[in-house]
Amino acid sequence: MEPKKGTVVGVTGNMVRVSYTGDVMMNEVGYLKVGDQRLKSEVIRVRGRVAELQVFERTKGVGIGDEIEFTSELLAVELGPGLLGQIYDGLQNPLPELARQCGFFLQRGVYLNALPAELKFEFTPAAEPGDTVRRAAVLGTVPEGIFTHRIMVPFSLRDEYTVEWVAPKGVYSVRDVIAKVKDPRGAVIPLTMVFSWPVKRPIDAFRERLKPAEPLITRVRIVDTLFPVARGGTYCIPGPFGAGKTVLQQITSRHAEVDVVVITACGERAGEVVETLREFPKIVDPRTGKSLMERTVIICNTSSMPVAARDASVYTGVTIAEYYRQMGLNVLLLADSTSRWAQAMREMSGRLEEIPGEEAFPAYLESVIASFYERAGMVKLYDGGLGSVTIGGTVSPAGGNFEEPVTQSTLKVVGAFHGLSRERSDARRYPAINPLESWSKYSGPVAPRKVAAVKDILVRGNDVLQMMKVVGEEGTSLDDYITYLKSEFFDAVYLQQNAFDPVDAATGADRQRRMFDVLLAVLLADFDVADKEKARVLLNQLRQKFLDWNGREWNSKEFAAEEADILAGVRAAARDQDGAVEAKIKKLEG
Ligand code: ADP
Ligand code: MG
Repeated sequence: MEPKKGTVVGVTGNMVRVSYTGDVMMNEVGYLKVGDQRLKSEVIRVRGRVAELQVFERTKGVGIGDEIEFTSELLAVELGPGLLGQIYDGLQNPLPELARQCGFFLQRGVYLNALPAELKFEFTPAAEPGDTVRRAAVLGTVPEGIFTHRIMVPFSLRDEYTVEWVAPKGVYSVRDVIAKVKDPRGAVIPLTMVFSWPVKRPIDAFRERLKPAEPLITRVRIVDTLFPVARGGTYCIPGPFGAGKTVLQQITSRHAEVDVVVITACGERAGEVVETLREFPKIVDPRTGKSLMERTVIICNTSSMPVAARDASVYTGVTIAEYYRQMGLNVLLLADSTSRWAQAMREMSGRLEEIPGEEAFPAYLESVIASFYERAGMVKLYDGGLGSVTIGGTVSPAGGNFEEPVTQSTLKVVGAFHGLSRERSDARRYPAINPLESWSKYSGPVAPRKVAAVKDILVRGNDVLQMMKVVGEEGTSLDDYITYLKSEFFDAVYLQQNAFDPVDAATGADRQRRMFDVLLAVLLADFDVADKEKARVLLNQLRQKFLDWNGREWNSKEFAAEEADILAGVRAAARDQDGAVEAKIKKLEG
């Protein structure tokens, strides 16, 4: 069949207007021919005989009359073993070179295989000739890093098939045929370990979507205890430039209790991205002792790459995340920053001369953001197993003002909000999540009433602080002052966490629960102190002890000794009768 062709009738930045004959679909891929280069493009609007395409490359040299060849295929990614450990651009070109040579970019129009034929895996068959299979059925498995990677019937095959042949156990290239299946009309379809899936369509090869109920432990205390994330849930991290969004995502990618992490570094400055790419492979996975990269995929686009590629990178990332979910794994997708992606949408919308919405973002901004986050979820697979995709996105609003369309659209759809504050990052109170503004709809590892009791102290402590700014310390009552000291104590020993201390950097759920009870013993105690100075000294002493305790290995002898020491210190300083504080804590349980 003759390939469908079109002719360029207009060029606006990264958008070309093309007149064509035949049928052209939305999101169909076309290649724009410039000299001997072929530039990948995607149809983003069709009107009559004219299609508009976003070009994923610089359009220098493109002119009226240039030819475009349509592929009849939607923008898609390749899925198969070997994705883990890769660093791709938004179009799934491997970018190891970029990581090695700072600032080096691929030449335009060069598209590499995401999963090259040199990649080989040991295949163990799981299906037999004669078996009846549907999409996502397991034909065999290969080991990939620490996981068993399922080689499945491609998700786009929607019939019932009979297995004709499966390759015997052995080492094969990802491009070798490892099975043949026959469709209901008798046609034989050869299958390899790799198949493709259109990125803008959620992978729907599962039985049902479940409500996210189980917490995803990130081991960041302020997140898990105060503003928890759920497996299969969504959350966002808005914050001004430099407040610690990227660092917080890196900490999470290292310590969160998930199997696979997919990072889309989208539109940040090239220097920052190169930094990530250089640092990441060196990071040791605290769970396996191997490189963290072995269970990570990075999709990266810098602000110097064409904006259309940012759009692609977000979808490429989430599609790869969904693919690993199909293996029965828990996947965390971290998008940094979704604002850059939204800016790309704004730019393309402007070129399409659409009627702009708020701050010139397209009117459909909200629905596009919503449908991105809707791809998160805990699902029951066809085999009854569970898999999840959790999505966390950063938002970087200009000036840190959350009253803007991207932050607001995101807040409408996510389950948790971790708002970073300039005030806290300036004071180096990391992670700089604002405990008074953030929220979560999910439940975490610590009993909700205990958390509520402490949040109440935080709120009251802040009230006292604001009042003190007006009336001074002298004008503040001793009781109020102690409340303020307690809230500061909680902030210092629990909310702040030292990312560079090997122990403090990551706190598991059991330890959070244990710490929280000791913390409550301090916060609920009725301290017998004569004046503010004595109160300050006491809380400072306790803080120091607690900080030391934070550095002790979980469940070590020192851990227990230090805990007992803190509790003894509280008892000695409190008016409460023996057991009274414990009783108060007990009442908050359940
Ligand atoms: P953003 O992505 O919000 O612009 P970054 O995550 O790049 O900000 O953080 C900016 C800087 O702040 C980092 O380079 C680091 O010096 C400091 N920083 C951020 N978070 C932490 C943290 N948890 N611990 C220590 N330093 C941090
Ligand atoms: Mg950043």
